[in-house]
Amino acid sequence: MQQHTPAPAKEHTIKQVQQTTCCIVGGGPAGAVLALLLARKGIAVMLLEAHMDFEREFRGDTVHPSTMEILDQLGLADRLLEIPHTEMSQFVIQTEHSALPVADLTHLHTKFPFVTVLAQARFLNFLVEEARQYPNFQLVLGAQVDELIEEKGVIRGVRYRGQDGWYEVQAVLTIGADGRFSRVRKLAGFEPISSSPPMDILWFRLSRKESDTINGLGGRVKDGHLFVLIKRTDYWQAGIIIRKGGYQELRAQGLEQLRQRWIQAVPELADRAQELQTWQQIAVLSVESNRLPRWYRPGLLLIGDAAHAMSPVGGVGINYAISSKYRQKRLAEVLPELISLFELRASRPPDAEESCADGAGELSPPLVGHNASTFLDECV
Ligand SMILES: Cc1cc2nc3c(=O)[nH]c(=O)nc-3n(C[C@H](O)[C@H](O)[C@H](O)COP(=O)(O)OP(=O)(O)OC[C@H]3O[C@@H](n4cnc5c(N)ncnc54)[C@H](O)[C@@H]3O)c2cc1C
Repeated sequence: MQQHTPAPAKEHTIKQVQQTTCCIVGGGPAGAVLALLLARKGIAVMLLEAHMDFEREFRGDTVHPSTMEILDQLGLADRLLEIPHTEMSQFVIQTEHSALPVADLTHLHTKFPFVTVLAQARFLNFLVEEARQYPNFQLVLGAQVDELIEEKGVIRGVRYRGQDGWYEVQAVLTIGADGRFSRVRKLAGFEPISSSPPMDILWFRLSRKESDTINGLGGRVKDGHLFVLIKRTDYWQAGIIIRKGGYQELRAQGLEQLRQRWIQAVPELADRAQELQTWQQIAVLSVESNRLPRWYRPGLLLIGDAAHAMSPVGGVGINYAISSKYRQKRLAEVLPELISLFELRASRPPDAEESCADGAGELSPPLVGHNASTFLDECV
């Protein structure tokens, strides 16, 4: 972690100062699930999301069996499966000469031997609707967090730009769940260790016919490129894995060239190549993979992609954001303990605060209690 020098406070007219116990920045899978878990535990939680809705094209739509099991334990899986989705249990890569089975989930001893593919926006709306049942949960959309509140080295909340001005949220604990380009991570002075695989992915939609016989999740290798197909409710999610930074070169070659490559790799869908009419139909995923060696500071935790952006291989991003055994379920178990300890600190007289200024701000074992300190030790 970089040495952090607190930024000088900027002058803003703050429209309102709000208070909560846990302020979560970022309403992606990591932030939304944690907000729900904490709300269920009776903790006042405020979820701040920069966008006005959860609509994102091609973002973490693959929910793996292990994540479904956790959602099942939370009593959510059956209702989640009522949302329109597809299920994929086998992944086969087809080369010009042979078919290579990569994964077959039908052998798994689980209630959910398949990858559930559903639009992330539906999933996030579902989680937020669940959380809304708890009066201690609050969601603020259109809240662009841009500053951390720091006192004596301890993070005490955030300031965000709302639709009509600046707001301040004072919190016992702040969680940065704001994704791979995390603003909170930057503000807190964390520097991730990058290990990005040298590739990018182009995603686009092609229409799907009931008569299509292609496997639900398939890959094709052709002329050094990997083409991916994911069966969605009423379309194919098509992907082309390219060399990192190769998009501009591809674009310069023209759309027709891309269509021809597609036709050669996936001749069964040749009749749909013409659906690709503009580059605007293509979403470019710049592949990032990194991790923070340490992902907490006094008063602050980072989770999900903000702490560890995953390679897209295997479509694990959303699953690590949600179901890594430490990141969510145990987090929900130990956070109340952490929070009560922070609250304890906050209620101490200033003298006591000063006398433990060096160590108290740190989440050191004597201060955070057994569960929480074991948890943090195991995670760093
Ligand atoms: C194009 C693309 C395709 C992907 N496909 C897959 C896939 O098929 N399968 C898979 O498992 N994973 C996939 N991933 C990865 C997956 O989306 C992420 O790993 C997962 O969403 C991480 O969840 P998260 O909650 O940590 O972060 P995110 O989902 O990134 O959520 C972060 C949230 O924080 C908000 N935010 C950011 N900055 C601020 C701020 N300053 N203030 C307030 N809010 C803020 C953002 O608007 C966002 O809603 C894909 C990613 C991309 C970009």
